[in-house]
Amino acid sequence: SDPFSSEVKPRILLMGLRRSGKSSIQKVVFHKMSPNETLFLESTNKICREDVSNSSFVNFQIWDFPGQIDFFDPTFDYEMIFRGTGALIFVIDSQDDYMEALARLHLTVTRAYKVNTDINFEVFIHKVDGLSDDHKIETQRDIHQRANDDLADAGLEKIHLSFYLTSIYDHSIFEAFSKVVQKLIPQLPTLENLLNIFISVISSFPAVKYVLFSVLSLKEDGAGTPYDKESTAIIKLNNTTVLYLKEVTKFLALVCFVREESFERKGLIDYNFHCFRKAIHEVFEVRMKVVKSRKAQNRL
Ligand code: GDP
Repeated sequence: SDPFSSEVKPRILLMGLRRSGKSSIQKVVFHKMSPNETLFLESTNKICREDVSNSSFVNFQIWDFPGQIDFFDPTFDYEMIFRGTGALIFVIDSQDDYMEALARLHLTVTRAYKVNTDINFEVFIHKVDGLSDDHKIETQRDIHQRANDDLADAGLEKIHLSFYLTSIYDHSIFEAFSKVVQKLIPQLPTLENLLNIFISVISSFPAVKYVLFSVLSLKEDGAGTPYDKESTAIIKLNNTTVLYLKEVTKFLALVCFVREESFERKGLIDYNFHCFRKAIHEVFEVRMKVVKSRKAQNRL
């Protein structure tokens, strides 16, 4: 079975009041839209689900909700939605009066927690580009305090909220999103270790550089993708360097830039690569088993 199936795709929900900046965040982070273009975005007025599947690491879903969700609307199955959620990002517009946003945050978090205690609650204190440095710190302190007081008053201090200061006008939104995603993908550190081991093992070859990169998957099922298990490429770049690409998984490829003379020992590189590839597949298979057994437990 494919360890990169949709089973392991963590879902991220993006929620918040109308005009808080949800669509802008989504467009800037995942569609490379320039921040100024977001001025002309239409406000979100329906639940829209988007699959962001450009690699195995940022393979999740964003549910962009309208500002006001009616939890009492029987046609809105929030239980089903929260059950399959890994992280809930709640966006608060820091340039606006945020009392209503805090009330919604509290309602949303307590509802979600009742359904699924494993959700990571991530609060983006957003649009901080408009605030002075002092004002930023003060706003974060105030929001943190009020949100946690509300939880304590409800006897729910065990719910943990993480806070981030964000803006689409600088890298803060990318950093915050990246932290949210990394929490959901526990194999990342292991993957990094494996790559380091691989590199140290083959460092006796004077390779110039190793790059593990994600392959853009064109279709979910891989059909029609010009990339598969057999994918490999050897390109002589100049008199001294050879580029060597090999498939690791459906979404990952390893590229080595190797000195031409080392490439004569290609068999050894291939052997080490084989061990590396096997280890990576094991990392993801273990993870899939955990997810499956959790699902089985949930069904009981
Ligand atoms: P949504 O209704 O939550 O989807 O909100 P939108 O994404 O439509 O954003 C509402 C407005 O906020 C737009 O005019 C955006 O340009 C603006 N906006 C979004 N993010 C930021 C930000 O980080 N800083 C500033 N200054 N404005 C932002």
